[in-house]
Amino acid sequence: MRKTNLLTVLILAGVVLGVLFGHFLLWDPNASREALEQSTSWWRSAGDFLLMRPLMLIAAPLIFTSVLIGVTSVGDPRKLGVIGGATLVFYLVTMLLAVTVGVTVGATVKPGANMPEEIRQAAQEVGRQHLEGRNIVPEPAGEQIGGAWRSILEQLIPDNLLRAGVEAQYLSIITVTIVLGIGLLVVGRRARPFLDVVEGVHEALMVIVRAILWVMPLGVMFLVAWSVGTMGLNNLVGALSKYVAAVLAGLGVHMFVTLPLVLWIITRTNPFKYMWAMRPALFTAFGTASSMATLPVTIETSVDKGGCSRRASGIVLPLGATVNMDGTALYQGIAVIFMFQAFGYDLHFAQYLVIVLTATLSAIGAAGIPGGGLVTTIIIVSAVNTTIAARDPGIPALPIAAGLGLILSVDRVLDMCRTTVNIWGDAVGARAITRLAPDDPTEQPEREKALG
Ligand code: ASP
Repeated sequence: MRKTNLLTVLILAGVVLGVLFGHFLLWDPNASREALEQSTSWWRSAGDFLLMRPLMLIAAPLIFTSVLIGVTSVGDPRKLGVIGGATLVFYLVTMLLAVTVGVTVGATVKPGANMPEEIRQAAQEVGRQHLEGRNIVPEPAGEQIGGAWRSILEQLIPDNLLRAGVEAQYLSIITVTIVLGIGLLVVGRRARPFLDVVEGVHEALMVIVRAILWVMPLGVMFLVAWSVGTMGLNNLVGALSKYVAAVLAGLGVHMFVTLPLVLWIITRTNPFKYMWAMRPALFTAFGTASSMATLPVTIETSVDKGGCSRRASGIVLPLGATVNMDGTALYQGIAVIFMFQAFGYDLHFAQYLVIVLTATLSAIGAAGIPGGGLVTTIIIVSAVNTTIAARDPGIPALPIAAGLGLILSVDRVLDMCRTTVNIWGDAVGARAITRLAPDDPTEQPEREKALG
């Protein structure tokens, strides 16, 4: 059996075993969420140490080396501008498409209609505990949206590089590296030794990523077992079943119809062959529920197996892992509509439009970590509350805690699925931008020319 196929079989076995262990060994329908978190913590830690932590550890240096190699191999800052611009437009358009699918599914399927009263009441308490546990105090919509923009800008232009590194602000690392890369190109020949070192370090990191891939089946098994063990499969068939089905259907449409179509239109290549080639990255996303932890695998697979250029994937993928979240945007669209429906609100076109716009913004702002998108959902709920108040001041706002409390119990499994779509969106971006920035082995590489 070929190595990649063997790995695929092992990872799938990890997922299946994880589900079985989680459901039959760990899940207890009579235990509280806290008790379950405690009794399964060993499984979570095992997954963390085997998979999450090594991948997260390697992500930051890998962003540095791959962005630097990408930028300097493009050579010409103007061409870099074109590639960067095209990448951002691609990401924005696909995210808007994703959230439009989400809102359409939410508005037509109506997953939150006829929610039983006892579930709504329980949600309030669950959500309050969750927000308090994380010290989150929801602010008014204006401040939330202003804050989201500010935080994105602050990350784009950091004032302290060390802090950005220590606090793992990946967007800051990317911008600083792009600027440094342009600086190195201007310096020319004297920058060569440094870039040779960077190339060497990058290769070494890739060797490490390939080794981590073989630990993945075990890591995925522990993480999936923990997810299922704390959530219980029964939750998926109860009052939330319609919501879960709606999110999965929306994600399915984006993953198997919209993005493949976009890829085919741009590259005229078979999108499903590419999807199959990218499976190690997609599985990692599913297992870890983190775009950032998956990034090393996405970079490795896209170049090694997916036919993407180092130039394109070096720039496009790190940027994608931080800002491009199609699955998150889509999920947030449905989740917010579900919350309002469950509490008996009637949403109008203007409010759907607000959801489309704010979900895109809040998905950009979401961190590529487990649950990153859940927190930023607060921004969208606040924005919809504001438009409801503007239209009819007599209608009380939806309590954010109650809304979140409603969806918390099934969030992890949806997180695993939406992260898979996030990574697929990044991978499609890398392949599309490869058309604009191919590696050309026959030609003297641009970087060599620029550096003299
Ligand atoms: N876990 C997702 C990611 O890392 C973000 C989210 O919670 O939606 O891409």
